[in-house]
Amino acid sequence: MDKASINTIYNKLRKEIGEPKTELNYRNPFTFLVSVVLSAQATDKSVNSATKDLFKVVKSPKDMIELGEKKLKKYIKTIGLYNSKAKNIIKLSKILIDKYNNRIPKNFDSLIALPGVGNKTASVYQNEILNIPRIAVDTHVFRVSNRLGLVKTKNPDATQKELESIIPKKWLKSAHHLLILHGRYTCKSQNPLCGKCSIIKLCNYKKKNEKN
Ligand code: SF4
Repeated sequence: MDKASINTIYNKLRKEIGEPKTELNYRNPFTFLVSVVLSAQATDKSVNSATKDLFKVVKSPKDMIELGEKKLKKYIKTIGLYNSKAKNIIKLSKILIDKYNNRIPKNFDSLIALPGVGNKTASVYQNEILNIPRIAVDTHVFRVSNRLGLVKTKNPDATQKELESIIPKKWLKSAHHLLILHGRYTCKSQNPLCGKCSIIKLCNYKKKNEKN
């Protein structure tokens, strides 16, 4: 897709959605990282509902270690995969204390070396907290960018690489947020609302659902 079309897509999405923000609630970089780890295969809403009470008592890696795995599980038991997520969060907190003096590393490779932190989590963290423009690819970004024809990819890592190389710099910071929100509310997985879609003319998806 050419640059002019990409700019038009993002201009239209920005006009419709506004300046996008993360829907995860957090108090500081550590609580944001914990929220993103918890959000893997879970909705932001379910994470916010669990962290509402958790973040009243936990604000740092030290607090998390003091709370311990057993009590952490009680706070997050409504979130999918909470057992393994709790284990990872405790391990991650210990590493932040032992290796990084209670702070979170900024470097991408150091971030993805933390338990429970993959490409997507590290990219979301860098984008939101460090203001480093990264495109984190979740299921919505993967689906929408392939339907639109921004990319033609088979997995999230390839999608991230391609999107980061073709999307003009000025959109990089908000690019994934806009695609996520478009995917969540309009370009839905099962029943895309193509009839109401502001970027339908630029979309290459062959199975458009224009009745909706
Ligand atoms: S036209 Fe349909 S498939 Fe294309 S981006 Fe819009 S909602 Fe998605």
